[in-house]
Amino acid sequence: SLTAGVVAVQGDVEEHAAAIERAVSAHGREVTVHEIRESGLVPECDLLAMPGGESTTISRFVQSEGIAPELRDHVGANKPLFVTCAGLIVASSDANDDRVEELDLVDVTIERNAFGRQKDSFEAPLAVDGLADDEPYPAVFIRAPAIDDVGETVEVLASWNGRPVAVRDGPVVGTAFHPELTLDSRIHELAFFENKDASVPALEHV
Ligand code: GLN
Repeated sequence: SLTAGVVAVQGDVEEHAAAIERAVSAHGREVTVHEIRESGLVPECDLLAMPGGESTTISRFVQSEGIAPELRDHVGANKPLFVTCAGLIVASSDANDDRVEELDLVDVTIERNAFGRQKDSFEAPLAVDGLADDEPYPAVFIRAPAIDDVGETVEVLASWNGRPVAVRDGPVVGTAFHPELTLDSRIHELAFFENKDASVPALEHV
């Protein structure tokens, strides 16, 4: 059985845990999901998610609890990490905000609340590269960041209004929107099982 962790400061923790369970069972596997509120659990995890919420709060928490270096080690070991919305802001290399201490796990420059002049929340059918089929993904944006600039190692998986909103940088997949809020688990599956630069332990045959 796989072990997963969801960074559980705030935001859609239960929704991510449920989405992880759907994605893992779609791949015929089983999973135990831990809520990460302290250091020591991340090293046990095969795969991780860091949800949305408020990026300054999440940043402060992962730093003060000593979780930040564990997240870096996880990615350094090519284990999959999926970051959404505020999670992407915290994992970025430049959040454009002094109150966020970036983890520098995804080489992107962020503009927080970039879609603010539109309705605060909206849903858009997105073409996302690398999904199991060509069906547009129902992407839910909530006070979402946009990506201004991407580094050389970053693959843009989807854009909205001409701006990247889903990216992959090695074992890390990040979205500005919230795949945990729909029952469509294709992006969780992409992040955990269909990323050529990330791996989870193979099924043991007994
Ligand atoms: N607006 C939030 C921030 O900038 C992110 C919103 C979200 O995670 N839904 O931190």
